[in-house]
Amino acid sequence: MVATTTRSSLDALPLTKLKGVGAAVAEKLATLGMHNVQDVLFHLPFRYQDRTTLSKVGSLRPGSEAVIAVEVVLADVVFRKRRSLLVRVNDGTGSLMLRFFHFSQTQVKQFTPGTRLQCFGEVRRGPGMLEMVHPEYRLQTQGAALEDTLTPFYPTTEGVQQPTLRKLTDQALGLLDAHALKDWLPGELLRNSNMPDLVSALKMVHRPTPGADVSALMSGMHPAHRRLAFEELIAHRLGLRLLRVQAQRNDAPKFPLQSDVAEQLQASLSFALTGAQQRVLDEVLQDMSTGEPMLRLVQGDVGAGKTIVAALAAAHAVSAGYQVALMAPTEILAEQHLLNFSDWFESLGINVGWLSGKLRVAQRRSAIEAVAMGQQRIVVGTHALFQNDVEFENLGLAIIDEQHRFGVHQRMALRNKGANENSLPHQLIMTATPIPRTLAMTAYADLDCSIIDELPPGRKPVNTVAMESARRGDVVSGVGKAIAEGRQVYWVCTLIEESETLQAEAAEDTIAMLSELLPESRIGLVHGRLKSRDKDAIMQQFKAQELDLLVATTVIEVGVDVPNASLMVIENAERLGLSQLHQLRGRVGRGSAQSSCILLYQAPLSQNAKERISIMRKTNDGFVIAQKDLDLRGAGEVLGTRQTGLAEFRIAELGRDNDMLDDVSEISDQLLANWPDNVKGLIRRWIGEERKDYGGV
Ligand code: ADP
Ligand code: MG
Repeated sequence: MVATTTRSSLDALPLTKLKGVGAAVAEKLATLGMHNVQDVLFHLPFRYQDRTTLSKVGSLRPGSEAVIAVEVVLADVVFRKRRSLLVRVNDGTGSLMLRFFHFSQTQVKQFTPGTRLQCFGEVRRGPGMLEMVHPEYRLQTQGAALEDTLTPFYPTTEGVQQPTLRKLTDQALGLLDAHALKDWLPGELLRNSNMPDLVSALKMVHRPTPGADVSALMSGMHPAHRRLAFEELIAHRLGLRLLRVQAQRNDAPKFPLQSDVAEQLQASLSFALTGAQQRVLDEVLQDMSTGEPMLRLVQGDVGAGKTIVAALAAAHAVSAGYQVALMAPTEILAEQHLLNFSDWFESLGINVGWLSGKLRVAQRRSAIEAVAMGQQRIVVGTHALFQNDVEFENLGLAIIDEQHRFGVHQRMALRNKGANENSLPHQLIMTATPIPRTLAMTAYADLDCSIIDELPPGRKPVNTVAMESARRGDVVSGVGKAIAEGRQVYWVCTLIEESETLQAEAAEDTIAMLSELLPESRIGLVHGRLKSRDKDAIMQQFKAQELDLLVATTVIEVGVDVPNASLMVIENAERLGLSQLHQLRGRVGRGSAQSSCILLYQAPLSQNAKERISIMRKTNDGFVIAQKDLDLRGAGEVLGTRQTGLAEFRIAELGRDNDMLDDVSEISDQLLANWPDNVKGLIRRWIGEERKDYGGV
């Protein structure tokens, strides 16, 4: 039955075409991501057993798994702690005990002396000799029954056993031929890569030949495994590249390079732009002057001065008669942008509007109306800017701060917000999470990239030390001294629990402790459970130096700017990832004073935590830290949550497969230029129809 369908492609072949798969099994397989026969082939084993050769009992080592062919010497049911069946076997090179705790009378009778058995199991040390507990075994009437290939073990789910998955992959592999599963990567592109073709790669990972490098297969370093990961990465990059091509088929408003508003704004600043800021601003202005939609990512370490670059870009849009939306991922950060932008623009007679999720209904209605009527030329806000009822009169530029918290889908939603007819707004995305270059090429393949790689003058690297939390007392007196010198201090409380309530409680305890030990100091508290008005008031007091010490949860992680704060204490630093620590630390070292950061930790530290803390002490360079974070925790974390929709690879892992990313982008570009049909095929295979928004061709 199956054989007659081999000529249709495997992704068109439903699972129920395979023997042994009915509707119920198909449903279970769907939870493992398998919807058609092609998916079965991309569901890879995570480990293997070698049942291809017989071992001699005399040469077995405890801890290994082995197939042996033996003869029963003696079988006995014994009653010690538990009733068990012991079967002593021998193959002429040595003896071994088979041990069963669950057994039937029939089994006992089977094991008469002289019976020949083939057993498979894990060898372990027993009381008198080596033994196998509950081995798989079969009575051996003819010769040995060995496997031709290594035996795979698949990720599975309740109600689907390994033998089922093996039978399915057997069938799927049997259906493999060039017609049924097209190799979309032309051989000439892979010539120098040491990678096998698709069909060989699949056969190898599912049914490795004896002697295959199992540890390479299991760690994803085997050429066959890499071949599949490579293809998947290419498919994702292609999806993003096409997204970009699609976007750029649209027109966009043209902003002249010269802008009165920008000139006035720049003249009002108390500082000059750094060379890096000017260069990146020029790139942005250039993009926005061409009539094609800009899609640009600006990376810059914390404190590099991204906000003013965004504001100057906004000024150009406003000069040209267009509206600007500026979106941030948290209320507190959006509020800070509102303050900065109001400061800069309102003195120039330009209104800055506000749209957050926390507005009351009436306020929200009038805010939305002002945006729709075009009374507000610049609107700052949170996700609330995405809502369907928000319409712009003529949005010309969408700015997103702290991009890594927004996924590709949200990016698209905002992009489409200002779209009308064939015109898209320009899009400027800013991130303070430096992303290693190769990772950015894959994760943000739909964007151009600029880097502000220079800090404003006068900044001194933050001096970072680590202290065991047992020395909290010393740290508190240090804080007291700093305050006496007129410095401002952050004290950051962290908890494993995501719960804002628990975080808030921990912060309340801390402020009680600090108030007692530092009675002279003015101490404030911000956490996620405060009303945004209250939070705002406290942040403002801290900024205005009416508070000496700010106790905070990780809500201050992003973007908050208080240049006079020069000491930060981070509790339970061992629990935080590198990128998060770097973000937090970036809150200090923004003024001209020498700043310090104290990482308090609970001993004993894990190896990984030790490494993180030592990296934090050694460097202030966000790019170095991001690369380390990638090595230690993987791409999902560096890009900030799995929301990106990019960490959801089936086979590839950006951290592990980092070294392939250069080739991924080069080969993707060649495919786009010369093999358009293959591009479609790859995207259909790996991204699928259901994600048309970014996989659609
Ligand atoms: P980030 O890149 O982390 O968003 P900000 O835009 O918040 O950084 O800038 C950090 C601080 O540096 C702000 O107080 C800002 O006014 C100041 N700043 C920005 N550019 C310069 C510059 N060229 N010279 C001096 N200070 C600057
Ligand atoms: Mg910022």
